[in-house]
Amino acid sequence: MYRTRTCGELRVSDVGDTVILAGWVQKLRKMGGMTFVDLRDRYGITQLVFNEEDNAQLCEKANGLGREYVIQVKGTVNERYNKNPKLPTGEIEIIVSELTLLNASEVPPFTIEENTDGGDDLRMKYRYLDLRRSNVRANLELRHRFCLAVRHFLDSKGFLEVETPVLVGSTPEGARDFIVPSRMNPGQFYALPQSPQTLKQLLMVAGMDRYFQIVKCFRDEDLRADRQPEFTQIDCEMSFVEQDDIINTFEEMTKYLFREVRGYDLGEAPFLRLSWHEAMKRFGSDKPDMRFGMEFVELMDILKGTGEFAVFNEAAYIGGICAKGCANYTRKQLDELTNFVKSPQIGAKGLVYARVQEDGIVKSSVDRFYSPEVLNLLKDTMQAEAGDLILIISGDNAMKARKQLCELRLLMGERLGLRDKNKFALLWVVDFPMFEWSDEEQRLMAMHHPFTAPKPCDVSKLDTDPASVLADAYDMVCNGVEVGGGSIRIHDAVLQAKIFEVLGFTPERAQEQFGFLMNAFKFGAPPHGGLAYGLDRWVSLFAGLDSIRDCIAFPKNNSGRDVMLDAPSVVDQKQLDELQLLIAPKS
Ligand code: ASP
Repeated sequence: MYRTRTCGELRVSDVGDTVILAGWVQKLRKMGGMTFVDLRDRYGITQLVFNEEDNAQLCEKANGLGREYVIQVKGTVNERYNKNPKLPTGEIEIIVSELTLLNASEVPPFTIEENTDGGDDLRMKYRYLDLRRSNVRANLELRHRFCLAVRHFLDSKGFLEVETPVLVGSTPEGARDFIVPSRMNPGQFYALPQSPQTLKQLLMVAGMDRYFQIVKCFRDEDLRADRQPEFTQIDCEMSFVEQDDIINTFEEMTKYLFREVRGYDLGEAPFLRLSWHEAMKRFGSDKPDMRFGMEFVELMDILKGTGEFAVFNEAAYIGGICAKGCANYTRKQLDELTNFVKSPQIGAKGLVYARVQEDGIVKSSVDRFYSPEVLNLLKDTMQAEAGDLILIISGDNAMKARKQLCELRLLMGERLGLRDKNKFALLWVVDFPMFEWSDEEQRLMAMHHPFTAPKPCDVSKLDTDPASVLADAYDMVCNGVEVGGGSIRIHDAVLQAKIFEVLGFTPERAQEQFGFLMNAFKFGAPPHGGLAYGLDRWVSLFAGLDSIRDCIAFPKNNSGRDVMLDAPSVVDQKQLDELQLLIAPKS
């Protein structure tokens, strides 16, 4: 037996027992004639003691150990004189009688302790060492418990976990596909699935009724922060349901997961539901962070045409937020906010502010353009009180200006400590538009995906005013993060063909790309709908992480590289020849 106990489990009640432990040397300290070793495994850390007086040879051997050496020890559990309240095993130590070196280690490139990291690149290159750190490991343990709870819940509701293929066909809508050349079919390519969307719909046609899968998805997108080229979804689909059935089922699952995995009670009340239009109007985002208020107030009536300020007089949108108690912001702090909104990522032209002084008088960066009456009206409209700071953004494109104000709201929420990672605010955003205009493609694109059903009352507008058509689509949002989203699907071949037409597909091209689905719909497709959650995001929210990377065992960096495996990489000419692939020289 390599070990009889782990490094995390011995307590005072075990004193006197003879045990065998195995693990890694975390630290070694010599004090007088004694050598102390912190022995670590997945379960914890146990202190080992070697006493020169008792066994000089053994102590000598222990002194030769280095960090991350793998050892096995036999010894007796002893109550510690100097207890360490920070360690669960801190009341005991092992008086070692036998030491076996199982493997030596080179000096690791960084120390394996919670708060050391040695820089991201190094951590990722030696991820197997990074994963030995207990806080990183804890994220993987959380992920494991999360998945178990998901499976338990969905199984109890009759969902079947069905695997779908990883090598599928390329589809034109959505993100860019990763493609895989086929040796047996030269010149032809598989694509890795961006999600199992059409396959899960086919499973509904196949009568599976309730499907789920914890599944890898692949999207070849430019990597923004918090995106990975491969990520994991909890993918779900149900037959004979309406939007409310799906929302209710997954709201129940969410409450269950919060309770069981996070120990957080979301209460009995149903989650808030906001229509997409309302979310955009009140928060400038389709994933508003509802841990705090600071709602947008539209100020066109108050500030456009009521003074000499040309920027507002020409604006298509003017909106403000009220930051409680921030009237004493210094010039420097206000400049910082202005620079933030004017930064290239946000792109606002400027920021107007108004402080409500203690005497109730409003002092604004534009008060030379407005009468005191207008400024007072501004204060009242904003429901601002003495000590508050009003921040105003305007623009000639309402959607863009709202998004800019949204970024400012989030920043102010952060500054005011209103975005507590241990608090959770969930909501559904519903009634998304079916389509959005793409400047790049010069056509309407599906806002969710082309299989999403339009609201039945809007179907008649598909020909006349498609841009105004709303979809039976919904997103679940937690703390400003979209954790999941889905829709009721089209299950009628004729309506599906119509949507492809609005999206600019010729009937031939639609048939070529999606014929398999439209044909399936001709064989009695049940009404169905579903959603998918982003597992990585959800786990990182539960873990209080800023990035999804730390809840993924082997993540890729921001250029999509696995720096540990050094992938992607060039392949042998022989492999290229077999695939009949030629690499074009760099132009
Ligand atoms: N397949 C969709 C996605 O990946 C989710 C869904 O509609 O179920 O976003």
